[in-house]
Amino acid sequence: MKKALVCGAGGFIGGHLVNRLQSEGYWVRGVDIKHNEYGNEHADEFIIGDLRDPLVAAKVVTSDLDEIYQLAADMGGAGFVFTGENDASIMHNSVLCNLNILEEAKHKGVKRIFYSSSACMYPEYNQMDPDNPKCSEDSAYPAAPDSEYGWEKLFSERLYLTYQRNHGIEARIARFHNIFGPQGTWEGGREKAPAAVCRKVAMAEDGGSIDIWGDGKQTRSFLIVDECIEGIRRLMQSDFSGPVNIGSEEMISLNDFARMVIGLSGKTISINNITGPTGVRGRNSDNRLIQEKLGWAPATPLRVGVEKTYYWIAEQIQKKAPEHELVEA
Ligand code: NAD
Repeated sequence: MKKALVCGAGGFIGGHLVNRLQSEGYWVRGVDIKHNEYGNEHADEFIIGDLRDPLVAAKVVTSDLDEIYQLAADMGGAGFVFTGENDASIMHNSVLCNLNILEEAKHKGVKRIFYSSSACMYPEYNQMDPDNPKCSEDSAYPAAPDSEYGWEKLFSERLYLTYQRNHGIEARIARFHNIFGPQGTWEGGREKAPAAVCRKVAMAEDGGSIDIWGDGKQTRSFLIVDECIEGIRRLMQSDFSGPVNIGSEEMISLNDFARMVIGLSGKTISINNITGPTGVRGRNSDNRLIQEKLGWAPATPLRVGVEKTYYWIAEQIQKKAPEHELVEA
């Protein structure tokens, strides 16, 4: 039986990954500073621990592991990443997790590690035109991410590649593009755009309105979590290190995304575009490399993922009533 460690197993993607690995017959150890808020926590062994602490890394990284999946990071949506208020913790916390895990993997002889990087590491200058962003893997340099979160991801990608070169650890690096889906953060300030829009629409009254940050013309692509997990597994089984994009190529403006969710809700809701943190003007996955190297790329239509997510979030809101009875301001 193969053994895996999932770091960040109490989080959104980590929780789904644990389930997938178990369904493939793996024994899975999970580690996180917190439990999964939505009960998606089924690891064979789940350790509450802070990976910034080298002693915790030493405890969870054992020599019997076949694989490590490193998803632990101090992260959130635009409201967390782009305000500047969390920059020092984002840099400090995530780098420490990566340093500690890699060092322990070297000591314990764990051969293969997956690292979750982000499309936020791509240079801002290639993402100024909402209709024509450039995010091919080879466009990463000269580096100019628009957030410290992106700089940390870029640094850590390089860190993993150095351990591959100098210590024989097989690194597998993916750059995720806006992953969303059920069991993801949907409130509290760390939620990302798709979940935030679903929540706002679900909570709005028929005939009401929702706020969308920016002019709504900024573009993104959003990938349902199941496809992300499929990509992680395929990359891990391949002999390609990456970095490689794992994202959707179905680009959409934020206002059109909101209209898609509103359409699903069956309500009549208008959109107010207000000032707020928005990030780059345009971003879309470029899936040529993943298709070439893995013979596969995500294919699920956005609408399918949005349906799953919208109904799940609407259900969460129902469960939390009457706390959420009032329509959001
Ligand atoms: P998440 O916040 O749900 O999961 C990250 C988990 O890491 C959280 O549960 C958190 O508690 C844990 N963590 C943070 N600091 C820790 C520490 N010091 N010790 C132990 N655990 C710690 O986020 P997610 O959406 O599941 O993202 C997983 C990974 O994918 C992250 O590295 C993130 O940067 C990356 N990523 C995600 C997206 C996306 O759209 N969701 C996009 C690009 C990259």
